[in-house]
Amino acid sequence: MEPVGFRRGLDYLLEQGLEVEVVTTDRSPSIRKIMREEYPEIHHEFDIWHVVKGLMKKLLSASNKKDNRDLQPWIKSICNHLWYACSTCGGDPDDLIRKWKALLHHICGVHRWEEDGQEIKCVHADLTSEEQRRKRWLRRDSYAFKALTAIALDKGLMKDLRQMALFKHTGKLEVFHASMLKYTEKRLHFHYSTMKARTQLAVMDHNENVQREQAYTNTGQARFNVVYPKQTKEWVAKKIYVPTTQTFRQNLVVQVVRRRLDPNIKIKDPQSYVSTPPIPENIAQKPKPAKEEAIQKHTSRYSS
Ligand SMILES: [Zn+2]
Repeated sequence: MEPVGFRRGLDYLLEQGLEVEVVTTDRSPSIRKIMREEYPEIHHEFDIWHVVKGLMKKLLSASNKKDNRDLQPWIKSICNHLWYACSTCGGDPDDLIRKWKALLHHICGVHRWEEDGQEIKCVHADLTSEEQRRKRWLRRDSYAFKALTAIALDKGLMKDLRQMALFKHTGKLEVFHASMLKYTEKRLHFHYSTMKARTQLAVMDHNENVQREQAYTNTGQARFNVVYPKQTKEWVAKKIYVPTTQTFRQNLVVQVVRRRLDPNIKIKDPQSYVSTPPIPENIAQKPKPAKEEAIQKHTSRYSS
């Protein structure tokens, strides 16, 4: 279903004459293949959040091995570093990869090093000798460092980084999918026309609320919630946004009533007529037997 929907959606935009320069998705193999083979002229980017999530999973599983324990306190910083490298590379994949690889020096307590005859240094301010002493740097010959190197320089990740320099996000789409659930509940089956109308409602709801701002208290303080995600096991502050609104519903009702009151519009007007396929009386695939026959069967089950 996903590839079919993806192709249809993208083709529709292209047919409408929209110039699509970049498409951002997760790293789904089927979508990668479609982008590479069918839309080679469109640049394909990966969503940073999905990539960081995958990286964190790998780091967590590596750090659970006894020999790699020293990696544990670094996991969050490593993920933040990937985020940082993507957000500051200015769209240049080479710069992104250079910044990402700097991690392998910094984590050993080395903040100046040479690369291709050039001196390179970390972007952070110089550490005090106290800070330098207290950090739990990795040793270059440790198992933890070797495991980290294998993950950080993994060929697949290196290739993916080349498609992440634009620092694109699909977060808004995830938010839309969440609000879709409100209108198209998964446990219920909807016919095509209903599904389409409900999706349109979800789109209108999303569009009305997509630019919501952070909520403030009466005294002008930005509001936050402190939550504890299962994955990272660290308390983090999350912005609280102003409540959603649904004024589009009111507008919709007004327009429907206006349309119905308009004497020039016939009810059977194809514009206002929603076709629904004939609904069968029940879900049975066999014709209904005569009642006597069914009763006979019922009683014979008990009499024998
Ligand atoms: Zn450093």
